[in-house]
Amino acid sequence: MKSYDRLFIGGEWVEPSSSSTFDVVSPSNEELVGRVPEAQNADIDRAVSAAREAFDHGPWPHMTPAERAVVLTKAADAIRNDMQGIAELISNEMGSPVAWGTLAQVFAPTMIMDYYAGLGSTFAFDTVKDGLLGPVMVTKEPVGVVAAITPWNVPLFLAAAKLSPALLAGCAVVFKPAPETPLDANVLAEILAEAGLPKGVLSVVPAGREVGEYLVNHPGVDKVSFTGSSVAGRKIGAACGANLKRVSLELGGKSAAILLDDVDLDVTLPLMMPNAIMNNGEACISLTRILAPRDRYAEVSEALVEQVRAMKVGDALDPTTEVGPLVAERQRERVESYIRIGEEEGAKIAIGGGRPEGFDKGWFVEPTVFVDVDNSMRIAREEIFGPVLSLIPYDDEADAVRIANDSDYGLCGAVYSRDNDRGLGVARQVRTGTYMVNSNIPIDFSSPFGGYKASGVGREFGEDGLELFLEKKTITLPAGYYPSV
Ligand code: NAD
Repeated sequence: MKSYDRLFIGGEWVEPSSSSTFDVVSPSNEELVGRVPEAQNADIDRAVSAAREAFDHGPWPHMTPAERAVVLTKAADAIRNDMQGIAELISNEMGSPVAWGTLAQVFAPTMIMDYYAGLGSTFAFDTVKDGLLGPVMVTKEPVGVVAAITPWNVPLFLAAAKLSPALLAGCAVVFKPAPETPLDANVLAEILAEAGLPKGVLSVVPAGREVGEYLVNHPGVDKVSFTGSSVAGRKIGAACGANLKRVSLELGGKSAAILLDDVDLDVTLPLMMPNAIMNNGEACISLTRILAPRDRYAEVSEALVEQVRAMKVGDALDPTTEVGPLVAERQRERVESYIRIGEEEGAKIAIGGGRPEGFDKGWFVEPTVFVDVDNSMRIAREEIFGPVLSLIPYDDEADAVRIANDSDYGLCGAVYSRDNDRGLGVARQVRTGTYMVNSNIPIDFSSPFGGYKASGVGREFGEDGLELFLEKKTITLPAGYYPSV
C-alpha cells in the first residue's frame, strides 16, 4: 500500500484543504493499493499562486535551458534506477501488463525526458537575422503557468510528454493527474524535487473533472495542455477560447490498419498486433479498425483470430501477461456495452466477447474480434477503449483509403504491404497525425505527434512539443546591430 496524506503544492508536501481522498484499487484483484488526498478548488488556488510566484518572481524562467535540462536528466536517471518498482506501481494503479509497462510506461518517459534535456543545448531559443527592413531578433520565451491535465492510461508517459518540454521552456506547472493514477504522479514529484527543481515550479493536484474545470478556467493559468477524451477536449477548448488562453489538445482515436492485397500475413500480423491491442486496448493510438481486401477476408479473419487466441490474459503484475484487466469496473461495463452494441448492429464475434475464465476478481474482458463489420457501425466509429477489434472488408486500395478516412478521428494508422512505395503512397492519402508503413513504431519522440480532426489540436513531441510551451517575440534592431546569441 502506497499512501500519501499530503499534497505536493509549490514544491512542498502540504496539508490538503479537505479530508476527501481517492482510493487506488488494483484492477487485477480489486485490492486497495494506495490512497491520496483529493485536491479541491482551494488547493488549486494555492498551486496556481505558487506557480505564478515561481514564474513571475522566481529564478526558473531566467535560468538557461541547459541549466534547466540538468533537472530533467537527473530525474530520468532516478526513474531508470527504479524501472521495475515504478512499472509495478503503474500496473497496480491501472492494469497495464508489467512487461509492456516497463518499456512503455517507464523507460519511454525517460527517453522523452532525455530528448528534451538534449534540446536544452541544441534548440534555437534566440535567432538573429536580416528581416525585410533591417536586423531582427526572434526570441522564444516560456508561455507562463501551465495547467497539465492527463488521463490514466499511460500516466507517467503523458506526464513526461508535457512536463519535460514545459519545464525545459522555463514554465511553472500545475499538474492534474487522473484520479485513478495519482501515485506515480506523486513519485514523479518526489523525483523532480530531489533532482533540484526549485520550489513553486511544480504542483501535483490529483482531482476529478470539476476541479479540473476550475483549474482550466483559473485566471492565473496561461496555457492548458490537455490529453484525454474528445468530449472533454471540446469543453476545454471552448473554455480556453472564451478566455483566449493558449491550449493544446491530444484526444481520442479510431485508427485503421490497412492490409493491402499483397500483404504477407505471417510477417505483418505479429508486427501489427501489439499496436492493435495495446495496453489492454486502452491506448489512443490503438489500431482498432483492421481493413482487409474482400477477396482475402476469410484468410485474414482466421489469422487474426489465431493471433488473438495466442494472447495471454492475466494479472497485470505477471511478467508473461499480454492483456491485463481494464482500469475500472465502469470501463469494463463500457467495453461490454460496446460488445452488445456490435452484436445488435449485426457484426459477428469471431473470438472473445465475454469475460475470461478463472478470474473471480479483477475487471477482465476477453480480447475480442468482430467480423462482418461495416464502417458505419458504432463499434467502427466510436472509441471503445478496450481490447475489441473490428475487421472491415474493402474492395480496392481507393476504397480502403476512403474507409480509413471515414472517421471523426485522425490520430494514427498503418499500412502493410510487400511494397514499401505502395505503402507510402497510401500513407500520404490518410488524414492522421502519425502513420506506420510496415512499421510497429507509432510514436517517434523526436518528431511531431498529434491528431487531425477530433483527435486534437497541436503537436506534442519533437521541437513542436517544446514550441507548445513557448511564446515568440520579435525584436527589431537598429541597422548594423547583430547581437550574438
Ligand atoms: P477524460 O477526458 O475523461 O479525462 C482525462 C483527464 O481530464 C482526467 O484527468 C480528467 O479528470 C480530466 N477532465 C475530464 N474532463 C475535464 C474537464 N472538463 N476539465 C478539466 N479536466 C477534465 O479521458 P479518460 O477517459 O480518462 O482517458 C481516455 C481518453 O484519453 C481516450 O479518449 C484516449 O484516446 C485519450 N488519450 C489520448 C492520447 C493522445 O495522445 N492523443 C493519449 C492517451 C489517451
